[in-house]
Amino acid sequence: MLAITGLCAGYGPITALDDVTLTAREGEITAVLGANGAGKTTLLRTVSGLHRARSGTVELAGRSLHRVPAERMPGLGMAHVPEGRGVITELTVEENLRLGGLGRGGKVGGDDLDRVYDLFPVLGDRRSALATTLSGGERQMLVVGRALMARPTMLLLDEPSLGLAPRIVAQIFGLVRDLVRADGLTVLLVEQNARSALSVADRGVVLSLGRVVADAPADELAGDEKLRHAYLGF
Ligand code: ATP
Repeated sequence: MLAITGLCAGYGPITALDDVTLTAREGEITAVLGANGAGKTTLLRTVSGLHRARSGTVELAGRSLHRVPAERMPGLGMAHVPEGRGVITELTVEENLRLGGLGRGGKVGGDDLDRVYDLFPVLGDRRSALATTLSGGERQMLVVGRALMARPTMLLLDEPSLGLAPRIVAQIFGLVRDLVRADGLTVLLVEQNARSALSVADRGVVLSLGRVVADAPADELAGDEKLRHAYLGF
């Protein structure tokens, strides 16, 4: 579904991605793991057109994304949920969700809202509340829900667990898992929380200093004690 080949990217003299090759298969969750500064966020930003690659290719369903600007990505089925839960706090939950449907063009249908409320009932309960009143976990659900309003086939998720209590992390990851099962969505999940990410992912790719150091089924990575200690911190 998403094929990344020989991707290099950086910032001035800094090399953030060094010849990264990986595939996110259709209907699977692929976790990209690694320490702070490993290049995970740069990878997602380069895939979604927010950062320019120095070399290499990215293909979505066989189509090259070379120089496709970020604003055209939703139209191609790609949604990027960046780190940091950027909701518009002065708007209600439902208004935030409606914004997510705009990138697709045309009107936002009630069906799309209902689907998000089915997936995240708490957002339905709070649809008229200002986003500023939401907890961290609810905000994370809102940014994922907002991305889903564009009906993506490929979802890029950057550190959804950051700063959330373990119980909420488990809930959010469980919801992502449900989503993949229900819709056949393809997910590239960037996480520092490797243990939780591997518990929901099908595959895992480990980055270290911008290079891929492991790429294997999630249970294999979780069972590799040496690799876990060296790169995954658990
Ligand atoms: P984190 O979990 O902290 O976000 P990460 O694995 O996502 O880490 P990146 O943020 O992609 O890693 O960073 C990769 C490298 O690029 C690091 O060396 C980082 O310092 C550098 N870097 C990231 N953003 C910039 C920037 N805007 N300008 C200069 N260097 C940057």
